[in-house]
Amino acid sequence: MNLTLRLAHLYPEHMNVYGDRGNVIALRQRCQRRGIALEIVPVNPGDTIDWQTVDLAFFGGGQDSGQALITGDLIERQGPGLRAAIEADLVVLAICGGYQLLGHYFLTHTGERLPGLGVLDVHTIAGKQRMIGNIVIEVHLGAEPWQLVGFENHSGRTFHGPGVKSLGRVLVGYGDNGQDRKGGVIYRNTFGCYLHGALLPKNPQLTDHLIELALRRRYGSQYVLPPLPAERELAAQRAMVQRLLTR
Ligand code: GLN
Repeated sequence: MNLTLRLAHLYPEHMNVYGDRGNVIALRQRCQRRGIALEIVPVNPGDTIDWQTVDLAFFGGGQDSGQALITGDLIERQGPGLRAAIEADLVVLAICGGYQLLGHYFLTHTGERLPGLGVLDVHTIAGKQRMIGNIVIEVHLGAEPWQLVGFENHSGRTFHGPGVKSLGRVLVGYGDNGQDRKGGVIYRNTFGCYLHGALLPKNPQLTDHLIELALRRRYGSQYVLPPLPAERELAAQRAMVQRLLTR
């Protein structure tokens, strides 16, 4: 069977800081190496998308100014279709600015209130101090807990409501708000967090987890993703976790 997936890349021109585009490349590569075609559909302001045909969505980070330019289009044009798809288990990865805009709102440091899609039960308030540095989060996405590594750089402090589950516990770094050690959220098949890096090239387990979720949603829950080695990436990930935990 020829397996195909469709990925919508939300606002790639406005929302692409710290190489977040690398996440889309990592997804495509790990699909291709298994013979799965990944079609990438950029979603720019004004575009019309049939969200029922989409399997995965990626929404990267951006500066406050980039976020302000796209939030109207996100809510008004993409809102109804994207929200319905998320409720129907669309697989989404949202980083930093993209993560903030899936929540209820982002109050910027100038006092501007940017409304979000409101599909994630989180809200974000800019703080005076930027939270910058390497970050390690312990996640439970599989049989054993493991550590996601990345790099965070945000002024927004994101607070979780009862409608989301925490993606993981922050072992190193600030995480969502620098206070409660919460690092990212999971809601249905949507994952939001502050990890740049780019995140997926550094964490192939998460890449594969997202691909498998998307394939199961499209082709049936019995689908099992064939294993694909990632020794080099995993060795680098382990070394970085070790270095940061023992610092
Ligand atoms: N502008 C947001 C903040 O600083 C998001 C930054 C980003 O996406 N890197 O909180």
